[in-house]
Amino acid sequence: MNGNDIISLGLGIEAPWKISGQSLNQELSPHELRITLSTDRGATFPCPVCKKPCKAHDFRENTWRHLNFFQHHCYITAAVPRIRCEEHGVKKIEVPWARKGSKFTLLFEQVALSLVKEMPVNSAARIIGITDKKLWRIVFYYISVSMNKLDLSTLTAIGFDETASKRRHNYVTVFIDLDKEKQPVIFATVGKGKEVLRQFKQFLHRHGGHADRIVEVVCDMSKAFLAGVGEYFDKATVTVDWFHVVQTFTEAVNKVRVLESKQKELPKHTRWATLKNADGTLTENQKEALAELERMDFFTAIAWRVKEKLRWIRKAATPRAATWRLSHFLLNVSSMELHRSPLLQPVIEAIETVIRHRPAIEARWQSQHSTARLEGLNSLFQAARARARGYRNPMTFIAMIYLIASPIGNIINST
Ligand SMILES: [Zn+2]
Repeated sequence: MNGNDIISLGLGIEAPWKISGQSLNQELSPHELRITLSTDRGATFPCPVCKKPCKAHDFRENTWRHLNFFQHHCYITAAVPRIRCEEHGVKKIEVPWARKGSKFTLLFEQVALSLVKEMPVNSAARIIGITDKKLWRIVFYYISVSMNKLDLSTLTAIGFDETASKRRHNYVTVFIDLDKEKQPVIFATVGKGKEVLRQFKQFLHRHGGHADRIVEVVCDMSKAFLAGVGEYFDKATVTVDWFHVVQTFTEAVNKVRVLESKQKELPKHTRWATLKNADGTLTENQKEALAELERMDFFTAIAWRVKEKLRWIRKAATPRAATWRLSHFLLNVSSMELHRSPLLQPVIEAIETVIRHRPAIEARWQSQHSTARLEGLNSLFQAARARARGYRNPMTFIAMIYLIASPIGNIINST
């Protein structure tokens, strides 16, 4: 095996193609290695339409960027024939080392994608020595091709949640397959509320699935989402994620704390103490803050106590126990005279939200699926944001979500 054979193997080239020359230009920095490919005179090539072997009509020189050869940038140059097919006329042939229209070899693109899976895009671009704009183009191409191949014909249970792609801007809603432990993301789109459910339904139908086969939907308690599920997935049972119930009360506690702190000084460390669960992860300072809150009978403490009662509901072992505990909770908080101060209004609203969505909250105890799955999405969102750091377009954020957590990771490897 000589040097040319080794390079041929790496490129995936085969007859009639062969390496006819290579040169290293040392005047450029970094140095450029140029590999020239050519074919024997009189060779035939399959017509890109009917695959019938045809003679070359004419040739055009093309260049592709290939993987760096040590520290040198490497380029492939070849005179690519256009063939004349009796049936289809003059057509440009496809070359085995690059996809149609790309200025990079397949191997280069595969390495680029595997780097992007592991690090921020701008770092990956620096390592392989291309502009980030070109790298994004490669990433978007493979993601759209792979997403088109996604098969959703067996999908029966979905969860979805929204997040901001950047602070307060551009909401993105992400859908997951609840039956998949790994790489559960099946759809992500810009926007939130009812409209994204309509989009997802279309996407589902284009990928072999059907809205009538969706039997369970896990989501938060937003009106727009629930209205969308009712309209587009009316065969599904809605389960409210427990994590969103806790979040609703955590936000209420925080609102009460902010309102109350405008009227009087609250103990130090109150903020973090009331946001956390009281299950032992508190620091000494935070424990003291809670104790002082209780002693002084602050409204923030009342709000926090309501939130902490949720934990007891969650521990219910059976659907019946959950129903009973939820009733007990509502009875108990109604005796706390929350109406005595306007400061407690956020808590009253949180409780009303629970009453409104009670069947969907209790459905959690009937569910075949772990509703904690949506909670796990938060770390995915963080990872995707880090990978797409420095880019404003929400499509970059969506691309990273797909790359990290959808099945296309595998599809890309097999293209
Ligand atoms: Zn043909």
